[in-house]
Amino acid sequence: MKSSIVIVGAGAAGLMAALELSDHYDITVLEMHDQPGGRIRTVDKKYFPQPVEDGAEFVHGELPVTLELLHKAGINYTAVEGAFYRVIDGHWTQEEEMIEGWDELLSRMKSADAGMTLSQFLDKYYSEEKYHSFRKEVIRYANGFDLADENLASARALYDEWKNEQETNFRVNGGYGRLISYMEQQCREKGCRFMYQQTASRVEWTEGRVDVFTNENKVFTAQKILITQPVAVLGNPASKAFIHFDPEPVEYLAAAQDIGMGSVIKVQLSFSPAFWEADRPDTGFIISDEAIPTWWTQRPDEAAMLTGWLGGPPAAKWMNADTGSIVDMGIQSLSAIFNTDEKMIRSLLLGSHVCTWESAYTYPTPQSPTASALLRTPLKHTIYFCGEALYEGKSPGTVEAALVSGRQMAAIIRSNKQ
Ligand SMILES: Cc1cc2nc3c(=O)[nH]c(=O)nc-3n(C[C@H](O)[C@H](O)[C@H](O)COP(=O)(O)OP(=O)(O)OC[C@H]3O[C@@H](n4cnc5c(N)ncnc54)[C@H](O)[C@@H]3O)c2cc1C
Repeated sequence: MKSSIVIVGAGAAGLMAALELSDHYDITVLEMHDQPGGRIRTVDKKYFPQPVEDGAEFVHGELPVTLELLHKAGINYTAVEGAFYRVIDGHWTQEEEMIEGWDELLSRMKSADAGMTLSQFLDKYYSEEKYHSFRKEVIRYANGFDLADENLASARALYDEWKNEQETNFRVNGGYGRLISYMEQQCREKGCRFMYQQTASRVEWTEGRVDVFTNENKVFTAQKILITQPVAVLGNPASKAFIHFDPEPVEYLAAAQDIGMGSVIKVQLSFSPAFWEADRPDTGFIISDEAIPTWWTQRPDEAAMLTGWLGGPPAAKWMNADTGSIVDMGIQSLSAIFNTDEKMIRSLLLGSHVCTWESAYTYPTPQSPTASALLRTPLKHTIYFCGEALYEGKSPGTVEAALVSGRQMAAIIRSNKQ
């Protein structure tokens, strides 16, 4: 008879682990929502010309595991196109360097002490008045793209991410959700059971046995458990998805709190027609100094859609705001960026869709390497953790990181098979 394992979470990491373990284990996947995907959620929205991505949208480069799965699934993907603009005080520039002085910044960050935060690094090298706006731009970039809190994020680890960021990005045709559907289907064909709307809330365990209790009054018993929930949930008893362990792995839960996770607001607006096409037809990405600073089009697709992105500590302040205020903030930002009348933009708006994510993805802190190494260490061959934050590589926080982490932990579990 096969050994049994409960996997908590049907996101990219949980599905990948389930796929890789299904030949050796009897697998039950518990998922609190009514569908798989976690932070990958492709949805159809009225007034939008194509499915929209609530969460992950891009494949950041030629990432081997993501592309391998897309090829197996027969799903095509398209390189993102369009010019990258910076718009500061209404002034548009398209530059080779993202920020003037960027290359010098990177060469300094490369040799920063491992324990230094981004704020400490900027204080050390860029404290003079002449660097005032440069500092603001660097922080805006760290907030926006890495969701990083400059006072907590590691400068050295951000360097590792930023040095690779010039690669081509891709979009999955029809949305990332297609990849999730493919993986779930493959898991089912291999005999995995999926239990949706089951929130694991308590795990009683001893070596070689777990009893997993759900909020919906079910109990699942297995020899092992693999937990894939975001680290911000794992370490936070106030979260509705928090799991109480008996006995409690105190050091593991504390380690989860040492890894940074940032917030995001993603606002998607659909127009008719695309008002920016007349003056700025080649627009791909915009980074600006407006309240919602980052925007992108769907290029090369000509869909009349703009996606706005507010990340990091500035987004955290808006987590409880109503969607109307966020859409208003988006339209005001676009009005300033394109120097176009707000009323005119509003009159062309067909639909809006706002997603707020309190814990969207991981950014590295000086404590992250030690914390994630501990969380990757199996607990008495019985409790295992994986997910994007625990990826043993340079860029956590991505779908690729989640997939690789799921695969890596499946290999560890198989090698410990009892
Ligand atoms: C707005 C946004 C944009 C992003 N953009 C990109 C991008 O462009 N490119 C990219 O590569 N990555 C992007 N990411 C990051 C990427 O989505 C994640 O890194 C990845 O999907 C994480 O996968 P995971 O399996 O580790 O975690 P998750 O997807 O969070 O999966 C964990 C699962 O566990 C479930 N769960 C949690 N607790 C419990 C419980 N107690 N009981 C049962 N189930 C539970 C959750 O519901 C969830 O389904 C983005 C993320 C967000 C939020």
